[in-house]
Amino acid sequence: MKYLTKAIELILELIYPNRCICCDEVLEFGEDPWLCHGCAEKVKPITGKVCRVCGVPIAANDICSDCSDKKLYFKRAYCAFEYKNEVRQAIHNIKFNNCPRYLKYFADILCSYANDRGFEGADIVTFVPMRPKNRRKRGYNQSELLAKELARRGMGEFMPLLLKVKDTKNQHDIAKEERRKNLKNAFAPIDPDKIKGKKILLADDIYTTGSTANECAKTLIKAGAQSVEVICIAIVNKRDPNMDK
Ligand SMILES: [Zn+2]
Ligand SMILES: [Zn+2]
Repeated sequence: MKYLTKAIELILELIYPNRCICCDEVLEFGEDPWLCHGCAEKVKPITGKVCRVCGVPIAANDICSDCSDKKLYFKRAYCAFEYKNEVRQAIHNIKFNNCPRYLKYFADILCSYANDRGFEGADIVTFVPMRPKNRRKRGYNQSELLAKELARRGMGEFMPLLLKVKDTKNQHDIAKEERRKNLKNAFAPIDPDKIKGKKILLADDIYTTGSTANECAKTLIKAGAQSVEVICIAIVNKRDPNMDK
């Protein structure tokens, strides 16, 4: 049976060759199923010193200036990549080019990244929810699928815990002061009994300012969660002069 499955996989790969998750180049038969050689050179998880809260690379101190002047409801965030270039393109493909299966590649890396950085397990893996109409439009919520993949890799039990109850503007598009107001009361617990006393891991695709993750964490803590940690594929490094966004 195992050989049959493998044979079917190979035949499918001949008919529908794998493409690089970043640049969409057709990959050679039997090679790395996710990345072309050029992108594989560049798609590397963050190494070295990071902020102990948000996980952004920093040179000195142990907490970045962003995190030190904010009230944060989550203990820390695990973000395996900086949000730029190839990784940014791969996330774009996941969200807008109907390639949610690429999340499997990132889930493997996120899982070992978090474990290497001291993740001790969670009771529940949940996700930042979307408004139902937006989810219908896309067909899926990438953060929900990411949470499922992380649960499959043993990080905790998958469970939806939050609803998005308010339409919000894209956090990218508005000024910093407006962001907090934009998200206020945007999320609500589905069932506080499932949250009480639990250690929760909250999955999202991108950590931009942390406001969305923080608002979700606040909702979970107020509903009685013991602790919340956050896990994201990538973090926007605002100090990076090469960021093109
Ligand atoms: Zn590529
Ligand atoms: Zn930080």
